[in-house]
Amino acid sequence: DVTAEPTVVVRAHGLPYLDERLPTEKRVADLLSRMTLKEKAGQMTQAERGNVAGDPAVVTELGLGSILSGGGSTPADNTPEGWADAIDGFQERALATRLQIPLLYGVDSVHGHGNLHGATVLPHNIGLGATRDPLLVARAGRMVATETRATGIPWTFAPCLCVVRDDRWGRTYESFGEHPALASVLGTAAVLGFQGKRLDSSRSVLATAKHFVADGDTAYGSGEGEYTIDQGVTEQSRDHVEAVDLPPYEAAVAAGVGSVMPSFSSVDWTDDGLGNPVKMHAHDELINGWLKEDHGFDGFVVSDWQGIHQIPPLAGDSPTTHQIVTSVNAGVDLFMEPSQFERFHTRLVAAVQDGEVTEARINDAVSRILAAKFELGLFEEPFADRSHADDIGSDEHRAIARKAVAMSQVLLKNDDDALPLDSGASVYVAGRNADDLGNQAGGWTGTWQGFSGDVTEGTTILEGIEAAADDVTFSEDASAPTDGADVGVVVVGETPYAEGYGDVGGPEWAWDPADGGVPREEKSMALQPGDADLVERVCAEIETCVVLVVSGRPQVLTEQLGSIDALVASWLPGTEGDGVADVLFGERRFTGRLPVSWPRSADDPVVNVGDDGYDPLFPFGWGLSTGGRASTLDRHRLELQDAVLDPVDGVPAAASKAIAMADVALLEGREARAHRILTAAR
Ligand code: BGC
Repeated sequence: DVTAEPTVVVRAHGLPYLDERLPTEKRVADLLSRMTLKEKAGQMTQAERGNVAGDPAVVTELGLGSILSGGGSTPADNTPEGWADAIDGFQERALATRLQIPLLYGVDSVHGHGNLHGATVLPHNIGLGATRDPLLVARAGRMVATETRATGIPWTFAPCLCVVRDDRWGRTYESFGEHPALASVLGTAAVLGFQGKRLDSSRSVLATAKHFVADGDTAYGSGEGEYTIDQGVTEQSRDHVEAVDLPPYEAAVAAGVGSVMPSFSSVDWTDDGLGNPVKMHAHDELINGWLKEDHGFDGFVVSDWQGIHQIPPLAGDSPTTHQIVTSVNAGVDLFMEPSQFERFHTRLVAAVQDGEVTEARINDAVSRILAAKFELGLFEEPFADRSHADDIGSDEHRAIARKAVAMSQVLLKNDDDALPLDSGASVYVAGRNADDLGNQAGGWTGTWQGFSGDVTEGTTILEGIEAAADDVTFSEDASAPTDGADVGVVVVGETPYAEGYGDVGGPEWAWDPADGGVPREEKSMALQPGDADLVERVCAEIETCVVLVVSGRPQVLTEQLGSIDALVASWLPGTEGDGVADVLFGERRFTGRLPVSWPRSADDPVVNVGDDGYDPLFPFGWGLSTGGRASTLDRHRLELQDAVLDPVDGVPAAASKAIAMADVALLEGREARAHRILTAAR
């Protein structure tokens, strides 16, 4: 019964921890002093929704501190009301414990409350990286926080602060880009947007900086078993990790991020990076050392999904006592143990009784978790505040996402001012990503992996084009005659995937069940043969040919470049496809800039700003525009871009370097330096 107010009853006891006028520290200390070891271990345990839904009494019995909805886990009634009811139901079970400590419920709102049907879904981070706009990202974060909290969820496992260095990685689209300055600026903006000024607001959620650290910087193929690409080893020197991968965490910690999630991958923390890679969930030097001691992180560290099960040795039923002891002592505070939560709880209690973990360490971990619960106001208001349910998928929220989509579009090439299009032109649209909401939303939408088709509510790119132009023909495979069309718009790219490393253009499951759930070998960033063929056919037949690439990472189309008049990187725009039409038809001008370098060749796809011999097809920071007012700096960059772009060969190396370095300088707040670089190059 959601109208029951157990906290009112408890307040009557007058215990100090229930007195909201007392500072958090005092409340934590008071509550902690009343807790048994078992209750403390319960607070450190997080189970998965689906595994407790059948027997919710376990929430009370174990005194669980937290529950999550994993990637694809939704209540049967996938509406705001259904989510709020389900979560309030768990909350009641938690409040039925002796000390009535509320649950902390977490979900992957990584680009919106993506599993909730009808939520507003933003571009994935890679697209937000192209906007270069921290205010927009903060506003978007606020919007996502509001939609998430409206269903009773006060915690998101976002943002991903990964700095992606090899775009074949399966989580490239979760990254803001390949340079630490970009991930720092936008990652911090996301944290501030999610958390707001006060965590106890109905428009705030606790943020999670993930995956600590260097998940985007692992060596290709260095992981084990089914995780060869996705969860590998960072084989870099300590200096490199400090310069490339850690800065976004430094910024996020300074901004007050409430939680941090370690990566599944391993990091070598020796001087040359060739010593001894350690699983991040066991990384004492980085979690206890760098994060908590050196940088004063006072939030809590939450393990990733069974993350501690990967700590060697792997003998026995995970989580083994060894895995638990190693990770707790390395500084992990809360444990995502989706199905093995009871075993975890029992073994943690025993490990403390056996002296393998000190009670002081447990008190520290529990204090961090409780502090978050107090700050979030959960002791005062543990249930969903349903007054914001109408904000979910509202026009106002969709307008924010639509603007983000428009700003994320990167115009790579625009011969003879092919764009913007005239709304009176006859437009022939083709391609499998033109009219598919699931494909344009990507993974972490509807389900963990996402799927093609009607994944939720929104506008496809085709629908956006149809609303903007009078005469539109759509033929997905371009089998309909192109007769007389003024413009062809071919929408190519990837189909949804999450983690793993994605099967570019293949079935929607990256981990093909037919292969026993093991990801396929060798992925490529080459354009799918079908897409290449479509581009070639449509561009040969129609005078003006526009290609949109809807994908989580660059797709190599060097061979097709000469035949394309206008080329746009659309990323994974989410539910508001009309934002793409806004820039195509000049409602808004193109302002997006590349968050990653665009490679020339699928055989040699690893290229990052600052590399020796940097020579991508299009550099980091590249982006043409379509008129409108521009700052002096922008004008210089735009002029340089116009002057150097060869329609067939892309951008020459010297210009690429200047554009990329100027963009980095700008991100670092060194505007004068950016000016100097561009002026010299011109
Ligand atoms: C992912 C995390 C995510 C977690 C919970 C894991 O597989 O690596 O990013 O937060 O699942 O869904």
